[in-house]
Amino acid sequence: MTDSTRLFDEIAARRDDLIALTQDLIRIPTLNPPGRNYREICDYLSARLSRSGFAVELIRAVGAPADSETHPRWNLVARHEGRTPGDCVHFNSHHDVVEIGHGWTMEPFGGQMKNGRIYGRGACDMKGGLATSIVAAEAFISACPDYRGAIEISATADEESGGFGGVAYLAEQGYFDPSRVQHVIIPEPLNKDRICLGHRGVWWAEIETHGRIAHGSMPFLGDCAVRHMGAVLEEMERHLFPLLASKRTAMPVVPDGARQSTLNINAIHGGEPVQEDGYTGFPSPCVPDRCRITIDRRFLIEEDISEVRAEITAMLEKIKTERPKFSYEIRDLFEVQPTMTDEDAPVVRTVQAAIEKVLSKQAEFVVSPGTYDQKHIDRIGRLKNCIAYGPGILDLAHQPDEWVGVDDMADSAKVMALTLLELLGNG
Ligand SMILES: [Zn+2]
Repeated sequence: MTDSTRLFDEIAARRDDLIALTQDLIRIPTLNPPGRNYREICDYLSARLSRSGFAVELIRAVGAPADSETHPRWNLVARHEGRTPGDCVHFNSHHDVVEIGHGWTMEPFGGQMKNGRIYGRGACDMKGGLATSIVAAEAFISACPDYRGAIEISATADEESGGFGGVAYLAEQGYFDPSRVQHVIIPEPLNKDRICLGHRGVWWAEIETHGRIAHGSMPFLGDCAVRHMGAVLEEMERHLFPLLASKRTAMPVVPDGARQSTLNINAIHGGEPVQEDGYTGFPSPCVPDRCRITIDRRFLIEEDISEVRAEITAMLEKIKTERPKFSYEIRDLFEVQPTMTDEDAPVVRTVQAAIEKVLSKQAEFVVSPGTYDQKHIDRIGRLKNCIAYGPGILDLAHQPDEWVGVDDMADSAKVMALTLLELLGNG
């Protein structure tokens, strides 16, 4: 029987390797959009995991949104078989990172290490988590070569842009079928002592108000679509936002401000389009005949998407009865159902016990305000036994000088390895 001490020694011995692996991954700039270097990072991981005895598949999401010859959407799935049959534990990380943005003092793709932190775009979201899961799996295999079941590690594309060329594609191909995979851990940066059970739902829509174009010097001859939109915004301020704020959820969403329904207005456009750079003339005087907003409504497990839609339609219909000539159109853009894994699910209970053993503190259950790839594993893959658990501080994601702490990664690696020992050990 392998005990946890042996496992922890294996992880401690791999500390330099964990650092080097994280740095190497950060140094492959997998920017999304447009989706750069996906093949390079998959080739790098393929070489690494093949050396550790994994059978590796590279899968291109042909025909997925944004897949092209210039920027093909490559994914990697690596599988290591145990000695005897048993469950499969799958670690899924996305390999894409978001744009750099401004305000960096460190090299964004340098992977520099300073005071126990590794810096770079993707350090915490989520190349640090990917490296941690690889080292945890390798340490476990070395300490417990006779384990039962299988371990899978995937590195997938496009999580930052919806996951359609990544986890959604793999789920459609059956990679997350419950007959093949029984436990999924997504090492997103939720902090080493927290288990993320799921996320709120999303509904994106476009609302357009209609008017009539006329000369700006005689607005009474036209009908201003921007003023109609003003009425929509006023109604939102007066009634909709207070209503949303009053809807509290039992989901343990963090931060606390997201423990209610929210709505963001992502964009507003009305009137003539912004002219290209270099245009030195003035705008022309026209009454705008179209005004459009994009709304981003985040909803709770207690809410139904049809009610969420009906709430907006009812608001617009009310304005219509009060406001002459008000006419609108509403278009659905995108929706994701909320998801939350049961606290008694095997992967939750196992990781919870592992956190308590490694960190000598109680694990905290959280729910993410925004979505991540769990939605595809749940809905397309039909696999409920799935959580996000990984090192790194969520607030640093997408920020300048993003970093991941080496101690946090090492602790998380212990939690992951202990989870493997519990679920697959002693074959
Ligand atoms: Zn992420």
